[in-house]
Amino acid sequence: VPVEAIRNFSIVAHVDHGKSTLADRLLELTGAIKVNSGKQILDNLQVEKERGITVKAQTASLFYSYQGKKYLLNLIDTPGHVDFSAEVHRSLAPCQGVILLVDANDGVQAQTVANYYLAREKNLIIIPVINKVDLKNANPEKVKEQLQILLDVDHVDVIKISAKLGTGIDKVLDAIIERIPPPTVARDKPFRALIFDSWYDKYKGTISLIYVKDGALSVGKQISSAYMKKSYEVRNIFLLRPYTENVKTIFAGQVGAISCNMKSKEAHIGDTLHLRHQPVDSLKGFNPPKPMVFAGVYPMDQSQLSSLQAAIDKLALNDSAVNATLESSAALGRGWRIGFLGLLHMEVFIQRLEQEYEAQPIVTAPAVTYKAKIFGSKNITKYRGDTVIFNNPVHFPDPQIVTEFYEPMIIATIITPDTYMREIISLCWEKRGVEKLNKAIGNNRFMLQYVMPLSEIILDFHDSLKNISSGYASFDYEDYGYQMADIVKVNILLNGKMVEELCTIVHKTKASQIGKKLCIKLLDTIPRQLFEIVIQATIGSKVIARETLKPYRKDVTAKLYGGDVTRRKKLLAQQAEGKKKMKMIGKISLPRDTFISVLKK
Ligand code: GDP
Ligand code: MG
Repeated sequence: VPVEAIRNFSIVAHVDHGKSTLADRLLELTGAIKVNSGKQILDNLQVEKERGITVKAQTASLFYSYQGKKYLLNLIDTPGHVDFSAEVHRSLAPCQGVILLVDANDGVQAQTVANYYLAREKNLIIIPVINKVDLKNANPEKVKEQLQILLDVDHVDVIKISAKLGTGIDKVLDAIIERIPPPTVARDKPFRALIFDSWYDKYKGTISLIYVKDGALSVGKQISSAYMKKSYEVRNIFLLRPYTENVKTIFAGQVGAISCNMKSKEAHIGDTLHLRHQPVDSLKGFNPPKPMVFAGVYPMDQSQLSSLQAAIDKLALNDSAVNATLESSAALGRGWRIGFLGLLHMEVFIQRLEQEYEAQPIVTAPAVTYKAKIFGSKNITKYRGDTVIFNNPVHFPDPQIVTEFYEPMIIATIITPDTYMREIISLCWEKRGVEKLNKAIGNNRFMLQYVMPLSEIILDFHDSLKNISSGYASFDYEDYGYQMADIVKVNILLNGKMVEELCTIVHKTKASQIGKKLCIKLLDTIPRQLFEIVIQATIGSKVIARETLKPYRKDVTAKLYGGDVTRRKKLLAQQAEGKKKMKMIGKISLPRDTFISVLKK
């Protein structure tokens, strides 16, 4: 296919606005898959199916005839959740245009706005498409107005479709060919390609998704990576259609996957590949995404340390945003501190560890990265004048030596129907938010912007917002630097012994309220044991809350009066099963998910 007949594009949209459905229709119409195969093709991980979100960008190369000429359309499916905006960034690297998909019913939402600005910033052609026009409450004209008011999109550019019914899809394909330019590449130059995604495949090993910027690459060639500075021999090259189709050569302008003798850790997203001994200028890669939320991940049992390590390594390869460092804890042994983009990202990662690798890790409460300026006294030589950075409550510095604490802030964009405004504003206040913008955007909707501490939103802000607004408010956020904050560490003691893994960092004004809540939640979570357990929350040496868990004689078979033997055995087996999911902290056994569940509502 000549370069002029190639189009590289992505579909971007707020979650549930119909990306996957449209992608499937495009695949059907171009003959890549059979019509009505019944399932979404591009969402192929189990977690994605269950949660209905796209986590991993998937690519498909499609052929389409337009005015008697054959075109190659490379579609890159992008995730739509706030936590995964880094994946959206990287998916856009090979693209010259995007389809901005908006639900005719919901209208412009927080991620529509975010995606629009991202595409503009990257100078991409934007094709505005209103989806779901078949819905009986659909109001595409109102949505057109919103697009114009908010994003300055011209009415005449907007295409109306129903991805579900398959109406208007041909207009989308035509617009892709007519409006998006072919990639600017040079086929006569030496080979140069960008790695924009990589994953681990059980059979093929490490696979890198590449965008060929210059020249061509064939199977059997020797290549090198510019950043990692390693050399390989190309074993396989294939197109994703979306099923793999082996090819001998891939040319500039194309997107395809390669496998070679590359180790998982060497596949660096943003790296440039070139022919061995023929160095080139590196392509502009992208900054690795910055983890915002950190949690400890530990094996249930130290004997599972190496299998958990292998599982984390493989998953981390599929997810360059994950960042794991070794750590050890007094109560939980050796494990990892893992950085995630947000709470959903963390939950998806853990769920994948459980489902795809059958790991049963213990996960500690998520925390953000704080900074502390250390008091410049002569007595304190260790840290004097330094700034200490920590994301683990265990490393909370002695407040006596700290002059100022700083916490990470975000700016949240919320779009909501006016009915829920008052409750949303009070939720933002409760989360220590400061209003920056409050603007009517038509269609009885408002756009709010609040500057808030990241720590206040990582746990349950998104869920609360959805609850308050019956699911109608949407939310996106961006980094907003650091701000001075009055924070303290709330300690949790069980029978007088501090359990570091249950301690948490909170704002001073909320400390006693949270301390009480933690104690009550633990009282509910910890099963009764043979002895009494005193649960205390403290700040420094001051006790701020206390609960007592009464002992329990746990002969579960006692009430059966010796009766049926098989039933008795079954009960004992169940009890043993229950025990397996417990973690012994000293003499006390805690359910595996205690560390994270105590902090949630
Ligand atoms: P994504 O999150 O953007 O990938 O959205 P999906 O493609 O998963 O679609 C979300 C929901 O909207 C699914 O239940 C789809 O069946 C539904 N949907 C998608 N397109 C249309 C459409 O044109 N009309 C109607 N009525 N529903 C649609
Ligand atoms: Mg989807």
